[in-house]
Formats: sequence, C-alpha cells, structure tokens
Amino acid sequence: QDDLFKKVIAHAKEYGFIFPSSEIYDGLSAVYDYGQNGVELKKNLREYWWKAMVQMHENIVGLDAAIFMHPTTWKASGHVDAFNDPLIDNKDSKKRYRADVLIEDYAEKQRQKAEKEIEKAKKRFGEDFDEALYRETNPRVKKYLDEANDTVKRMAASLDAGDLADVKSLIEEKGIVCPISGSKNWTEVRQFNLMFGTQMGSVAEGASTLYLRPETAQGIFVNFLNVQKTGRMKIPFGIAQTGKAFRNEIVARQFIFRMREFEQMEMQYFVRPGEEMKWYKYWKEERMKWHRALGMDDSYYRFHDHEKLAHYANAAADIEFNFPFGFKELEGIHSRTDFDLKAHEEHSGKKLQFFDPELGQNYVPYVVETSIGLDRLFLAVLSYAYREESLEDGSSRTVLRIPAPLAPVKAAILPLIKRDGLPEISREILDELRYDFNIQYDEKDAIGKRYRRHDAIGTPYCITVDHETKEDKCVTLRDRDSMTQERVPIQNLKAKLSESLSL
Ligand code: ATP
Repeated sequence: QDDLFKKVIAHAKEYGFIFPSSEIYDGLSAVYDYGQNGVELKKNLREYWWKAMVQMHENIVGLDAAIFMHPTTWKASGHVDAFNDPLIDNKDSKKRYRADVLIEDYAEKQRQKAEKEIEKAKKRFGEDFDEALYRETNPRVKKYLDEANDTVKRMAASLDAGDLADVKSLIEEKGIVCPISGSKNWTEVRQFNLMFGTQMGSVAEGASTLYLRPETAQGIFVNFLNVQKTGRMKIPFGIAQTGKAFRNEIVARQFIFRMREFEQMEMQYFVRPGEEMKWYKYWKEERMKWHRALGMDDSYYRFHDHEKLAHYANAAADIEFNFPFGFKELEGIHSRTDFDLKAHEEHSGKKLQFFDPELGQNYVPYVVETSIGLDRLFLAVLSYAYREESLEDGSSRTVLRIPAPLAPVKAAILPLIKRDGLPEISREILDELRYDFNIQYDEKDAIGKRYRRHDAIGTPYCITVDHETKEDKCVTLRDRDSMTQERVPIQNLKAKLSESLSL
C-alpha cells in the first residue's frame, strides 16, 4: 500500500498532474500545483459536483464569495477562539506534533493489540469461535479496548475543558515517545490557531488583520439573505460554492490529502428548525449515492458517525474513502443548527431570518452542510485509477482507469505515420471535435508507444488514422480499458464520443 502511494505520487508528477509548489526553490511544504493534466481532471471533478448539486436541483443555487471577509466574520463563526490544534514539541528531536494525534495513535495501537488477540483466538478455536462474545468477555482484549476508549475520552474531556496540562500528563502517563527520536522529553501543550492572517491596507497606521478563509461556508452564511431575497428562494433551499480555503496545518503530510492551501466544494442547505435531522439523513444518503455513481468499488466507501461534535453541530458524519494509506475522511456532512446565522445576527446587529409563508412566522433557519475537499476527491480518483497491468503478449502497461467523462484528455488523434496525407486528415478530425472535447493530436513515436502514453494519462479513446481511412472514411477507435479496436466512420465519431463521455 505504501508502495502504491509512492508510485501514485511519482506518476502524478511524471505525467503532469501534480507538481510540488515552487519546486525550483525546493518546494513549499504541503503546497502543490496542478499541471496540464491535473487541472483538467480537477476541473471535471468540480463540474461533476456542480452539475449534481446546482444544475440538478431547482432549489440549490451557486455563489462565488471572496476569500477575504470582514474580520468579525471569524470572531462570530468561532474560528478566532476555537479553530485550534493542541501542539507539543519534543525537546530532543525538535519535532512538532499534534498532541491529540499522538494520543489517538497510542489508542489505535491498543486497538490493534486487541485485534491481534482476537486473530490468535480465531485460529485456536476454529469454527466454534464467537467473536462478539470474546470481544466482550476476554480480559486481555477488554483491557486493551478499554484503555483505548478511556484514553480518547479523557483527552476529549481535557480538550473541551481547555485543560492542556492534563493533555500533557496523559502523554507522560502513557509513556508516549517521539516517533522520530524515541524521547519522552516533551514541552507543554499549547493551542495553535490554524488560520493564516495577513494585513489589509498599508501595514502602518489603520491596517487591519484579515484572515485567509479556513472554510468557504462563511461566505454562504453572510450572503444568506442576499441570495434568498434576490433568488426568491423558499425554504428548504441550498447555496453551493467551490473555492480555495487555507489552514496552517501542523502536520501536513500525505501529499494532497492534507494541504495548507486547498479547494472545498460546500453546500449549505437551509431548513425549518426541527426538520434538520430529516435533511441530515437525506444528504448523507444523497452524497454517498453521488460518490458511488463515479463507478469506483462500493467497498472503498464507508460512513463514520462522529461522537465528538464540533461547537456548531448537533450531528456529523464523514464519508471515508479507502486511500492508499487507509480509510480517511473525504467528505463531511454536518447538521450545523442555527449556530452560524445566529452568531452573525449577534455580531452584525442585522436580522438573518426567513419569513415562512406556510407557517406565517419568521425564524433563523437551521443548516445542513455537505463539505468535500476537491483535492481529496482528486487523490481518491487518481489512486483508485492507477493500475499496473500485465498484458497477454508478456509486456506490461501503466494505465489510469479514470471514469471516462472525467478524464483530462478525452481522445487522442494519431496518424499512423507522418506522411501520405494522414496528418492532414487527422487535423481535420481534430478541428471537428475539439470544441466539444479536450482532444490531443499526437504524431511522434511508434503507435504502440503513443497508446502507452495515453494509457498513462487515462485517455479513454485513441483514434488512429491509417491509409485505409482515405478510402473508407473510417478510423480505428481503441478503448483504453479493454484495448479493443473497432472501425468507426468519421462522421459517427462525435455522436459516439458524446454517448460515453458526457458527465
Ligand atoms: P480533517 O479531520 O481531515 O482535518 P476536517 O474535519 O477538519 O478534516 P472539515 O473542516 O470538515 O475537515 O472540512 C471539510 C472537507 O475539506 C474535508 O472533508 C476535507 O475533504 C477537506 N479538507 C479539510 N482540510 C483539508 C486540508 N488541509 N487539505 C485538503 N483538504 C482538506
């Protein structure tokens, strides 16, 4: 798995999907640039989401709010006071860690010890083994599982109470060591705010501190009435937005999974108070359906219901994806109550209420949010698509089995050779198709090599123009996944591609 992840990262760079940011200066930690193929795939994923959320719902509209917002926004939303991670440094290795992640890793190790005991027992008892009973009654298994639960519970309680000294005590009591140096020499735990600040205006007098938004949602909340009134929206209705968000993540790792600058695709659904659970369940299911419609194996997705809720939520779940490093959050569905709109009412002194004609009353709506990281979706699709295949003739190929409508390049036009009028015919076909599809013309190298090149960037179709084309006005259409080839009249190409490539 680790190996697969490394290969995906190397492939993404070699084939123009993702480059480290400012690479000539040795890169910038946890910041990445999308190359010529990456930008196409990312655009297609964004469009796929937008179509499903906005175009296919009469009662959901779009928005593109600015990244900069009035600084009070972040006071109201709770981000200035509560968008923190608990930090701890190891004095010997000088490495910085998230205290909560260290403790969660410890708990995970206890759970793994319990699983090992269970595996051993399974082998020992064979068919008669009652796993559920063993889990509950075996003292050693229970000890490990209780230790994991108790530790996480105590950490959550200490963090909630702001008792950072106890978080440190926990790390010491459990004998947690620095993963790099093995040392137990820790500093105090302190809170670290994840927002990036910057100055507006001349830095001298009158300058005020702004934040780069850590989520796109607040731009939707502050525009709630603007959209509702001008769009004559009736509850329930949604506002959708895609755009950059910024977080000064302490442990930025795992490639584009956790970045300091990333893109979110969020939708806030405004509902009647008291109906939020109905809509929360509805969106949980809808979003899972959307993911599954991408055609990746169902077993790669699962829900994770949150027990510990953020300050604004009364229910929350993640859709997790099986990334090369295991199941991790891909999308969050949150029931955010009326927390945000109420807080903005309070801080701005403006009413943010909806007059419900059916009930004949004004209220602050409740909000159900769906929030997905575009870069994480990109990583999910890319790592799932990456395959190394052995072919019947003994050779091998690397292919990206990206769902065809999302592929960066939809078809490659390949004249068999560079003369005899074949390039001219190819270019005519190119001109015919390029407005509707992202098509590449490629005449360099032997045809087999060109096929491989397009397999590697996930191009679903290769269109080969050969000498017979001049006679029969047909081309050879090669399918990326099955590698089968069929003869297709040039005049049918557009319809044929449209059929399998539309989103
Ligand atoms: P995590 O627990 O992984 O830090 P989160 O719970 O803080 O994520 P949310 O605040 O719910 O994440 O953000 C919604 C979505 O935005 C996440 O599901 C994820 O896809 C994406 N996201 C959040 N932080 C990052 C990041 N640093 N890099 C890339 N995507 C991110």
